[in-house]
Amino acid sequence: MVACPPYPFSAVVGTTDLGLALLLNAVSPAIGGVLVRGEKGTAKSTMVRALAALLPDVTTVAGCRFGCDPAAPDAECPDGPHDPAGPVRRRPSALVELPVGATEDRLVGALDLQRALTEGVKAYEPGLLAAAHRGLLYVDEVNLLPDHLVDLLLDAAAMGRAYVERDGVSVRHAARFLLVGTMNPEEGELRPQLLDRFGLAVDVTAPRDVSQRTLVVARRLAYDADPAGFARSFEAAETELAAHIDGARRRLPSVVLPDRELRRIAGVCAAFGVDGMRADIVVARTALALAAWYDRPAVTEADVADAARLALPHRRRRDPFDAPGLDEDALDQALRDAAPPPDGDDDHDPEPDPDPGGGAPPPPSELDSQSGAGEAPSEQRASPADPAFRARLLSVPGAGTGARAGRRSAAYTRGGRVVGARRPQAGLTSVHVPATILAAAPYQRDRGRTDRLVLVPEDLRAAVHKGREANLVLFVVDASGSMAARQRIRAVKGAVLSLLRDAYQRRDKVGLVTFRGAGATVALPPTTSHEIGAVRLRELPTGGRTPLAAGLRCAATVLAAEARRDPYRRPLLILVTDGRATAGPDPVTVAPLLSGIATVVVDCESGPVRLGLAGRLAAALAGRLLRLDQLSVDGLRAVATQRAA
Ligand SMILES: [Zn+2]
Repeated sequence: MVACPPYPFSAVVGTTDLGLALLLNAVSPAIGGVLVRGEKGTAKSTMVRALAALLPDVTTVAGCRFGCDPAAPDAECPDGPHDPAGPVRRRPSALVELPVGATEDRLVGALDLQRALTEGVKAYEPGLLAAAHRGLLYVDEVNLLPDHLVDLLLDAAAMGRAYVERDGVSVRHAARFLLVGTMNPEEGELRPQLLDRFGLAVDVTAPRDVSQRTLVVARRLAYDADPAGFARSFEAAETELAAHIDGARRRLPSVVLPDRELRRIAGVCAAFGVDGMRADIVVARTALALAAWYDRPAVTEADVADAARLALPHRRRRDPFDAPGLDEDALDQALRDAAPPPDGDDDHDPEPDPDPGGGAPPPPSELDSQSGAGEAPSEQRASPADPAFRARLLSVPGAGTGARAGRRSAAYTRGGRVVGARRPQAGLTSVHVPATILAAAPYQRDRGRTDRLVLVPEDLRAAVHKGREANLVLFVVDASGSMAARQRIRAVKGAVLSLLRDAYQRRDKVGLVTFRGAGATVALPPTTSHEIGAVRLRELPTGGRTPLAAGLRCAATVLAAEARRDPYRRPLLILVTDGRATAGPDPVTVAPLLSGIATVVVDCESGPVRLGLAGRLAAALAGRLLRLDQLSVDGLRAVATQRAA
């Protein structure tokens, strides 16, 4: 297959903020990368891939798998030490894409523990972090990557080094790369503590302007028809852009950050309510890169404002269930409030340049107005929820595989408590030392032991760890009239919101099935977007008859589909009902559809006369029965106190 030339960076229409954020990181990788948020079909991937082609070539030590710079080789390079006079190699800057489903070994590299222990050699196969050194690491759908991989990735990006350790055998090497992650917020948010570790964040929307949309399509068709010819027509612009990046890189060290602007940065970060000091540093680095980009000798007020717009919005302290995104008004206010008081020390500030340089992209304009549709009149029948509480831990019985890291159910995991030893299956990742010695002990005389233990591969025993995994928590909620009429839905909504928040903290996937009137609805297909679940639940309309069997049947369908999609994630079904069915068949007759599924039935029945139908259903589902007030940690404590008194 003949490789197509990449779509040229300068041919991408619109997405000005994204272009600027990428170019600034190319000028100053210390900014810490870019997180690109936007729906599908917004040219985010095209632009990221196009950037790689603009990065300057790199010179490496020939034969080094870790991309060492001959002028400054990595002292810890596993392929080193290198001969300073040895051959060198020049190659384009790397573009490494992290594939979906990549493992930890693939990312950080694989260490062969067996050879390390029995042969005494560090056999190390470099991972993608090594390949990305001095280039660009692109992670599409970073929000769908398992948390432990995101942590590893961001740690390496922050330290500029990758580190692998298995039982005291460790390898480290340089890994400095420009990190770009993309995500579609509709498919789940990134946890806030990971969000703010990206230097800059940009929201990208498809252009709404008709002439822009026309241009996007026309260019795309021209590219598809003749990629090489299309690339040629942008060659001059691309060469100029690459030269501009190179020039800005060289100007960067001499750009000055005046005290006055440094104070403005501190002021805006404080006023905007960000955690820690990292934000201030990123804004300062970005402002410096902006000044270098526009060929200014010193950072100006406009540079600080533009840097703040790219570096701050995703760092604002917020509740997990607040809608994420940019708060432009708050940022404008913070920028106005942060104007430093006039004083006499700033005479050395250079004049701000009123006209930023010629061929360079314009400074970021305001983002397309955020769809401020927050106040849409919601369905009037949706009733409010009681305040959320701290939920008790509900878990899946038994032990899972731990393939989905989290904090809910017991599972065999890579880390965590050591609970036993076994013969290693595939790839030894953690040695159980006492068991290994015990296995080797009987053969020491036969192996001619003199002063130290003689180990052979067959002796090695792997440690078995137990930790916790994340699950799929599927809520099945009765939204019929009987719930609404008695004002119970407020309490039910409060309880389910509490469990939803708990699921967020335990890193579960969640789904929501509701039933009322004629049938059941999948209000939220299984997702890690807990905040969407909260919105759906708050807006949940209620009323009508109670087709409980339809709700169970719908849940069984959702779980079956999810078992195919994500087979290692164990489900937990939480059925919120009073057990009464006023439409469709007796729910007990459909219970076998859910056999084998860990189930909790939350009994919402209240009032002086109780039928106990939820208990009957829980028995049919082989599930656990809890009352609404038994879901909260505080409720449990209150019951315990009453009993003790
Ligand atoms: Zn090297």
